Amino acid sequence: MRLYNTATKQIEDFKPLNPPNVALYSCGPTVYDYTHIGHLRAYVNVDLLKRSLVYLDGFKVNHVMNITDVGHLTGDDDTGEDKLEKGAKKKGLDIWDLVKIYTDYFFSSLSALNIKKPNNFYTATGHIKEEINLIEKLFEDGFAYETDEAVYFNTANFKNYGALSGQKLNEKILGARENVHVDTKKKNPADFVLWFKAVGRFKNHIMRWPSPWGDGFPGWHIECSAISMKYLGETIDIHAGGVDHISVHHENEKAQSEAATGKPFVKYWFHSEFLMVDGRKMSKSLGNFYTIGDVKNKGFDPMALRLLYLQTHYRQTMNFTWDALEAADTAYKRLKNHILELKEKTGNKKADIVASKYKQEFRDELLNDLQTPKAVAILWEVVKADIEPDEKLALILNFDEILGLGLDEADVVKADIPEEIIKLTKEREVAREEKNFAKSDELRQKINEKGYEIKDTEEGYKITKR
Ligand code: AMP
Ligand code: ZN
Repeated sequence: MRLYNTATKQIEDFKPLNPPNVALYSCGPTVYDYTHIGHLRAYVNVDLLKRSLVYLDGFKVNHVMNITDVGHLTGDDDTGEDKLEKGAKKKGLDIWDLVKIYTDYFFSSLSALNIKKPNNFYTATGHIKEEINLIEKLFEDGFAYETDEAVYFNTANFKNYGALSGQKLNEKILGARENVHVDTKKKNPADFVLWFKAVGRFKNHIMRWPSPWGDGFPGWHIECSAISMKYLGETIDIHAGGVDHISVHHENEKAQSEAATGKPFVKYWFHSEFLMVDGRKMSKSLGNFYTIGDVKNKGFDPMALRLLYLQTHYRQTMNFTWDALEAADTAYKRLKNHILELKEKTGNKKADIVASKYKQEFRDELLNDLQTPKAVAILWEVVKADIEPDEKLALILNFDEILGLGLDEADVVKADIPEEIIKLTKEREVAREEKNFAKSDELRQKINEKGYEIKDTEEGYKITKR
């Protein structure tokens, strides 16, 4: 596998530290609101990387992800409010209920897109002890200092600070904006918080733990270093996230980890580009975001979204439009129908693929820094190719181990259920995921009134005529 490494700005041969094992860490969501399809693009790209390492190279990937349930402020530069506390206040929810609701929504979004779950998820609040230990180590080694408000990492004492993003220390003018609280005791503008004290603007912070520096809560970055080191070791193979993480979050994770251990933190940094809407990053703060619920409500299959993502390379920005999703949905339906036809023709018998030029080309494209648009083009070539149906079926399903489009699970919508009922059913599914049970009951009632019945089973729901 050849992979682009943000640290070297080059495509390199991927060589794990302990083959065939690969230690992969990816930064998880801050669970204060719905996961949107911008986040999901980043998670699908990590999923493709993981599937490629496993299926093409035979690696065993140990994938760990964190869930940020405290400490991420509205400004990535330690300014503003804690996103979790702000979200709970705004929605009138208990903070732990908020965490549960949006963690569940994140998980259901992952499964809607057939994203393989990491081997383990760990929360920031579940690792306070490890975070405090790491901060204490930084104190011992002269990389941390304390003010009345917080404990900081001293970036001036870490000579490689800025190496990942290529930014110089004096280019960071953080905290210099108007109306932004600045701790006057902070030594360098780029210094970042390791521990917030429950004083001043955080006097009433709900989530707090005792620490050697008084009650408070961890800064955003320390959780990833503590969790990554605890479960994957001091140096790992791949660390993944979105490009917005490079200059602050990942630079800081790298600095504090390497300062504490004296070893490289990560061998390969993998960063996914943004999903855009009308030329701007899809984000909660701009309010230009859509969720998997919106995708389903408009009658689209989430797998069509996965196909749409694959059509853009992970290092290119991608502009989202509903028209593009509609086209992908049509293409996805064609693919599924094609599989159904092949299954009928062959009695669902797949050939053994011994040597196939298509398989080789598909493999080569993915091994070359995950060229998914080209891999998808080869999939369509196979669909159109003049080859035996059993070989075709085997090839497509083999490709789909990596593409993850769920082509083998032919969820055929029964033709005798009208579109209108299917639409109401999908809306009900979204309402249930959002735990809006009043709405979901109302929709069930509507479905009943129109002469259909919906039953929830272990495998999902079933619609029948009454
Ligand atoms: P957050 O919950 O904000 O920490 O984001 C979770 C992940 O989604 C991070 O890896 C972000 O870089 C990524 N992300 C956020 N917005 C977008 C977007 N519009 N396009 C692609 N990735 C995104
Ligand atoms: Zn992280």
